[in-house]
Amino acid sequence: MDVAVVGGGAVGVTVAHDLADTADVTLYEAETLAAGASGRAAGICYDAFSDRRDAALGERALARFRELSGGGGFAFTDCPYVWLARAGDDRVAREIREGAERMREHGRAVTVLELEALAERFPRLPTGNVAVAAIAESAGYADPEAYTQTMGLLARTRGATIAEETPARLTSDGAVETADGRHEADAVVVAAGAHTRDIVAAVGALPVKPYRVQALVTDSVDLAPPMLFDATNGFYLRPHGDGVLVGDGTQPVEQDPDDWDPEADTEFREACIEYQEQALGWSWPETRSWAGLCTATPDGDPLVGELADGVYVATGWQGHGFMRAPAVAERLAAQVLGEDGPISGFEPSRFDGDEAFEIVEGMRVEGR
Ligand SMILES: Cc1cc2nc3c(=O)[nH]c(=O)nc-3n(C[C@H](O)[C@H](O)[C@H](O)COP(=O)(O)OP(=O)(O)OC[C@H]3O[C@@H](n4cnc5c(N)ncnc54)[C@H](O)[C@@H]3O)c2cc1C
Repeated sequence: MDVAVVGGGAVGVTVAHDLADTADVTLYEAETLAAGASGRAAGICYDAFSDRRDAALGERALARFRELSGGGGFAFTDCPYVWLARAGDDRVAREIREGAERMREHGRAVTVLELEALAERFPRLPTGNVAVAAIAESAGYADPEAYTQTMGLLARTRGATIAEETPARLTSDGAVETADGRHEADAVVVAAGAHTRDIVAAVGALPVKPYRVQALVTDSVDLAPPMLFDATNGFYLRPHGDGVLVGDGTQPVEQDPDDWDPEADTEFREACIEYQEQALGWSWPETRSWAGLCTATPDGDPLVGELADGVYVATGWQGHGFMRAPAVAERLAAQVLGEDGPISGFEPSRFDGDEAFEIVEGMRVEGR
C-alpha cells in the first residue's frame, strides 16, 4: 500500500511511523518537522477527560509517551496535574467536583482536595483562596518538538520517506500535488494543522477555524508550583527547565493560517506577570514568549477519519492535539490499513462543512 501523509507535526509523524512497517509512506512537510503548533505547544498531557472515549485515548497516549521516553532525544516527565477554582467561583468549583466524579466513574485516577489537604500535598502552591482542586494523578509533560523529531527519526528508520520543504495540496481526484509533480497514493492522510482545511478543499469541506494562543517561559524560579490549570483565572503552568511555562492568551478570533502574528502580545505578557503576582504571590522575569495556532471545530471534538474516498484528515484539536497524538494517530493508521473503524464521534463528515460557529477556548474544567 502506498500512503502519502501531508504535515510533519506530532500527528503526521506518528501516523507515518505507525504505517511505515506495512506501507510505503511518504510524508510531505511544507517547512521542517514541528514547524507548526507542535513546535509551539506547552506539552501538558493527561488522561483526565470526563468523556470515556477521550479518557481511553488519553490513557493510551500516556502509555506511548512513557514507552518512548528515555531513549534518544525524547523525555516524558510524570507529574500530577492540578486544576482548581478560586473562592467565590461557585460555578467552576461545582463543575470541577462533578467533572472529577465522571472521570472516576470510568476509571481515571482523579483526587478532589479541599484547601487544607491541597496545601499539605503541594506546599509550594499558595492555596489561600482556593475553593477546590482536582488532581489528575496520571499526567505529565514533554517537549512536543522533541517528540515530533524523535518520531520522525523513527519513521525514517522504519523506511518512511520524509520530504521537508515540500508544500503539498490535494487535487480534486485525491492526488497529492507538490512542486515535484503528482503523487497518486492509495491513501492520503492530511494532518497539516491550521492548513488542513485549505489543503483538502478540492475534495471536501471541513468546519475548522484556526485561532491564536500564547505562552511564555520564565527565568529560574525558587519554588516551582505543580503543573496546574487555574480555571477561575484561565491560566495554566508547568515546570519548564529551571523556570515555569505560563500559558493562555487565547484569542477566540479566526486567523488566516498564512498571515498571523507568531509573537506574544504585550497585553498577554503583562497579564502573565499580574497573574503570577496576584494568584501565586511571585513573578519571575520572562525569558521567551510566543504565539501559535490551534484549531476549533463546531462541537469542540477533532475531525479525524475519512473525508473522501481514500482521503483521511486529522485536525481540530482545540488545544489538545499533542497529548492525544500518539493514540489518535495509532487509531487513524489502523483505519487507513482497514484494521480498525473510525473513532466514533470524531468523523470529519459529521458536519455539512460550512457551519457557522463560534471559536470556544479549549481549556475547560471538565478536562478538555
Ligand atoms: C502555545 C500552545 C500551547 C499548546 N499547549 C498544548 C498542550 O499543553 N497540550 C496539548 O495537547 N496541546 C497543546 N497545544 C496544541 C498542540 O500544539 C496541537 O494540537 C498539536 O501540536 C497539533 O499537531 P498537528 O500535528 O495536528 O499539527 P501541527 O503541529 O500544526 O503540524 C502541521 C504541519 O503541517 C505542515 N503544513 C502546513 N501546510 C502544509 C502543506 N501545504 N504541505 C505540507 N505540510 C504542511 C506545517 O508546517 C506543520 O509542520 C498547544 C498549542 C499552542 C500553540
